[in-house]
Formats: sequence, structure tokens, C-alpha cells
Amino acid sequence: MIPTIDVRGLTKAYKGGFQALKGVDLQIRKGEIFALLGPNGAGKTTLISILCGIVTPSEGSVTIAGHDIVRDYRAARSKVGLVPQELVTEQFETVWAAVRFSRGLFGKPANPQLIEQILRDLSLWEKRDSKIMALSGGMKRRVLIAKALAHEPEVLFLDEPTAGVDVELRHDMWQLVHRLRERGVTIILTTHYIEEAEEMADRIGVINGGRLVLVEDKATLMRKLGKKQLALTLQQ
Ligand code: ATP
Repeated sequence: MIPTIDVRGLTKAYKGGFQALKGVDLQIRKGEIFALLGPNGAGKTTLISILCGIVTPSEGSVTIAGHDIVRDYRAARSKVGLVPQELVTEQFETVWAAVRFSRGLFGKPANPQLIEQILRDLSLWEKRDSKIMALSGGMKRRVLIAKALAHEPEVLFLDEPTAGVDVELRHDMWQLVHRLRERGVTIILTTHYIEEAEEMADRIGVINGGRLVLVEDKATLMRKLGKKQLALTLQQ
């Protein structure tokens, strides 16, 4: 079976020569939930940014749903939704306008029913006419997720989705991830939290120093390492 995400020999050297990725190979199948665990500076955001086409790799290739992210950028990008770590979004827009605009960016026809569904799924429906700048941090993060889903991506990237969010949103996020998977969406999330990876993912990859040092299904990883050892791996 052709993987939805196919990463081969990926390296990234930033300006100044810092090597953030040192040869990453990874295949992720359709509908899989994959968690990328790693300490600060391990290369998680760099890897996700390359997979989304935001950062150009130095070497290697990335194919998303059959499209090369560099050579066939537009087609590959349209398959991908990204929820970034930072709460950056158009402050002066209403929730509804921002989400509708995100869909339009990909040349998709307007679909108010779909947008309503997305906003309801994210408990944002009541806030649809609110200005984004008036919302709390947790609500802004929900808006970012809604925007990422508006063009019906096949792959959703969540970069540290629950960093600094309240318990309610964390719980909602877990439920949302499972609902999306039932609809066939492939999900890649980054996290510092072992519990979160365990709760959400089918497979876990541990990244450290720009290398994927372990990739296992959740049960195998826990059996092989246990939480304590895994925590130590993440500190190295
Ligand atoms: P965190 O959990 O703190 O977000 P991360 O695992 O996502 O970390 P990255 O943000 O990918 O790690 O960073 C990997 C390394 O690359 C870090 O040492 C970082 O300082 C460096 N780096 C990231 N972006 C750049 C850049 N634009 N220019 C130079 N170095 C960078």
C-alpha cells in the first residue's frame, strides 16, 4: 500500500549551518494517528514544517498523498492542514469569516454547511460572529484548528496542540482527533508529553538531535521501554 506520507532521507541545515534534521525516513499510512515525541530543539517543528511545505529541505524527499511537496507544492499543500504552535490569526476577523477565508485560499467552493459542522465540532458555533481578538487563548486555538480543517485536508498536522491549554480543550482535542480519524484523516501531532502520545496515537516516533531514534506502535514502545525509560530517552 502506498503511504499517505512518505519521507526519505530528509535533512535540514539552517543558515549558519546548524543541522536540525540528519536523515529522517518515515512512512505514515492513511488514517493513522502518529505522535512525534521529543525534547526542546529535537527537530519536531522543523520536520512538520517541511512536511507542510513551509520550510524547504536541504536533502531528501517528502510525498503527501502522492504529491511531492517541493516539485508539486500546490497539489501537496492542498492535502494538508496545519495547526501551528503559535496563536497567530487574523485578530480583526470574525470566526466565521476567518474559517470561510481559509477554505477559499485553496480554491474550494463555499460550503456553509461544512463550516457550520466544523464550528459545532469545535464548540465554536456560538462564537461564530465574535472577533477573534476578543476570544480567550483556548478559543483562538480552536479557531486555528477550524481554519486548518476548512479545506478538508487528508492530513492534519498539530504542532504541540495541548501546550498551555486548559483541561477541557485538551479533552475536546483528544475527542476531535479520534473523530477525524474515523473520517479517514491522517493525523501527525508533536508533543512533549508521553501521556498525550499514549492517549492519542497509534504509533509513536521519538526524535532527538534531528534523528528519529525510535518508531514503534504504541503498545510495543511501552512494552520495550516503559514510561520511565522513554522519559529518559526524551531527556537525552
Ligand atoms: P520545541 O519542542 O522547543 O518546539 P522542536 O523539537 O520543535 O523544539 P525545532 O523548532 O525544529 O525543534 O528546532 C530544532 C533546532 O533547529 C533547534 O536547535 C533550533 O534552535 C534550530 N532552528 C529552528 N529554526 C531555526 C531557524 N530558522 N534558523 C536556525 N536554527 C533554527
